[in-house]
Amino acid sequence: MNLLTVGSVAFDEIETPFGRSGRIVGGAGLYIALSAAYHTQPVQLVSVVGEDFPADVLEELQRRGIDIAGVQRKAGRKTFYWKGRYHEDLNTRDSLVTELNVLGDFEPYLPDHFRRPDYLMLGNLSPQVQLSVIEQIPQRPRMVALDTMNFWIDNTPNELREVISKIDLLIINDEEARMLGRTPSLVKAAQAIHEMGPEYVIIKKGEHGALLFGDGEVFVAPGLPLEEVFDPTGAGDSFAGGLIGYIARTDDTSFDNLKRAVIVGSVMASFCIEKFGPQRLLELAPEDILRRQEVFKKLSHFDIIYH
Ligand code: AMP
Repeated sequence: MNLLTVGSVAFDEIETPFGRSGRIVGGAGLYIALSAAYHTQPVQLVSVVGEDFPADVLEELQRRGIDIAGVQRKAGRKTFYWKGRYHEDLNTRDSLVTELNVLGDFEPYLPDHFRRPDYLMLGNLSPQVQLSVIEQIPQRPRMVALDTMNFWIDNTPNELREVISKIDLLIINDEEARMLGRTPSLVKAAQAIHEMGPEYVIIKKGEHGALLFGDGEVFVAPGLPLEEVFDPTGAGDSFAGGLIGYIARTDDTSFDNLKRAVIVGSVMASFCIEKFGPQRLLELAPEDILRRQEVFKKLSHFDIIYH
């Protein structure tokens, strides 16, 4: 199945209590595409970079079955740049520098062969860009998923509500779900979001896993208790990529299949945080993914027996 995604492709600089990454490549679109491509192909990527972005990284994406015909390269301009510093517990971070550069006036353009996706993953970007992508697709995909963040909830609430009304699945973290749903209760927040349009809502709780709401049911996915978390950058995007990649591969949007997809997403996120930036995502073997899926199975499987 065809999967189309839109998201930033970036230069990042990351500081964690364990060290500094220096300038590396990143961006939500890059993480989503890399993660999804382990599960489905082709992955079609829509984004924008400047003249300074390394050609060999784009070639590497292509080698991995990612179609970059939708990635614009702007002559004489600079790539989006983000610098972040994580706090001691790695759960929170400060954005130290955000230079939008080419992302500031980004107008996504879908080549003809990108206009019939079976599945669409709208990465965290301005709701106007997300809407523009939806509007360039004449026939509704089987599932449209969207990731967003507090910045858009605060600054462009009306545009965000409009795009949320057009999607099937919203992926959001717990703090942002409370903001959007205007309630401290995650269950009520999920209900409020369902009323805005999406049939499914996934609320991510960082190292504590994720909740899937839909069909009047809830599914709870655990977070993998990793001994060492090195760099959480891109974990949310790797989660989204693994999740939608699995749904596209299996071509099944039922609640039961979304449960499996949430686990696949969690597996991809757990790899991402083991090394700086996308490094770990670039070196995985399919067996690594299968093995870790088994670990997740054991994490929360139990039977209650009375003797
Ligand atoms: P995550 O850790 O999943 O929130 O995503 C981290 C990625 O998001 C980094 O690689 C950044 O380049 C990218 N990023 C940070 N801020 C923005 C922004 N305002 N718009 C688009 N992408 C961003």
